[in-house]
Amino acid sequence: MKRLFWAVLLLSLSAAFAQQCKSVKYVFLFIGDGMSIPQRMAADAYLKSLDKPLLEINKMPCQALTKTNSADHLITDSAASGTAIACGKKVPNHYVGVDAEGKPLTSMAVVAKRAGKKVGIITSVTLNHATPAAFYAHTTNRSDYYKIGLDLVASQFDFFAGGAINKHDDKKSKIYRGDILDIARESGYKIFDTPEGIESITKADGKTIAIASKNGAMPYAIDEPNSLRISNLLEKAIEVLDGDEGFFIMVEGGKIDWMCHSNDAATTIREVIDFNNAVKVAMDFAKKSPDQTLIVVTGDHETGGLTLGFAGTGYESYMYLLKNQTCSVGEFESRVKKLITTNPDASFEDAKKILSQSFSFKFDGDAKADRLVLGAAEIKTLKDAFSREKDFFLKAKKSGKKEAYEREKSPLAISAIRCFNNKAGIAWTSNAHTALPVLTTAQGVNAEAFSGMIQNTDIAAKMKKILEK
Ligand SMILES: [Zn+2]
Repeated sequence: MKRLFWAVLLLSLSAAFAQQCKSVKYVFLFIGDGMSIPQRMAADAYLKSLDKPLLEINKMPCQALTKTNSADHLITDSAASGTAIACGKKVPNHYVGVDAEGKPLTSMAVVAKRAGKKVGIITSVTLNHATPAAFYAHTTNRSDYYKIGLDLVASQFDFFAGGAINKHDDKKSKIYRGDILDIARESGYKIFDTPEGIESITKADGKTIAIASKNGAMPYAIDEPNSLRISNLLEKAIEVLDGDEGFFIMVEGGKIDWMCHSNDAATTIREVIDFNNAVKVAMDFAKKSPDQTLIVVTGDHETGGLTLGFAGTGYESYMYLLKNQTCSVGEFESRVKKLITTNPDASFEDAKKILSQSFSFKFDGDAKADRLVLGAAEIKTLKDAFSREKDFFLKAKKSGKKEAYEREKSPLAISAIRCFNNKAGIAWTSNAHTALPVLTTAQGVNAEAFSGMIQNTDIAAKMKKILEK
């Protein structure tokens, strides 16, 4: 009886919202993968420490604390949370665009397309990764990239842009029917895979797939700041999708999550700022059509258990130190592995050069006067990690499996990034996702619908109603 009461109440509330909400011509949804309150606040604290303007995404007039649990886990993965946000249904982890029984769900992007709007999907990771896939694909296995790639083409959405289509020519797939890029061309898509080509796209090109990075995901902002960014891809999407029908565009900052898995605060913050830059493009566009635009910004879950505090620094924070990191921890790791694989006799002195180059660490000087000067205990930790790193390589080499070392997490990278973060007054509690709620912020027409404490599924429920209008 109680259940029935709530079901009826929810139904009548949703019917009331469907009646009240206004139609919107331009709808933007931004998803920061792995971006919860700590990631947003860390970026703001960093910007404040450098006396720079704070994030626009944190200044939006409407906010909703958003629960992220999946159907079978308190801690969701990106497939289940993407599906909840895109389709409005809690599903088990790893499921993309299907319910617990494997039946296809309808995403807000499909609703937008049916309503006559143009649809654009943009991501900094591969185009068939879980989050973008939740808007067009249907599978119980998020790793079935070939099937997801086929669904991408079948969606017939107007504009896809981001990284490559992962495993697009996967001949091992049981449903292999040829290279997905060829299938896409045959079904009317034009594919552009150079920065110049992407820049040249016009409305006349029709359905488009813009691949900004042929090797996979797009590079990190910290590593290649001059590369094409999601903000550039969004500018292009707006240019080609704008028209009488209006549009729905989803933009994912997918690599915030990746660097949170690696507990790299400086790179995470640069990715959040990069993501905010894309939101700024939508906000600038909204200035021209404020009565016709809705912008919603959310995250799919928190990653890393990021904390703005560290036992060793107590009440002090040194966020400005993060600007001294010059590359992602992933890039640092490849530099270390390159050193060891090309010179197995490399000494800690050689490693010190890479440590200084990547984190601006100093091995001499007054640690009290300069926080980048490492203390004896910190140097010992890094030295021990470097010895373990070399042992890993030698063991792998002896067993004839050098590639095992390439795959292994670098002990030196783990120790170096932890040491660097702790100096800034930042700590992490996990290498995986957490169950912390995320923040959804919104501005524009119907933005007030995104307030209070909501479920991630409410985002889809509300946006579908808005897009149906
Ligand atoms: Zn993740």
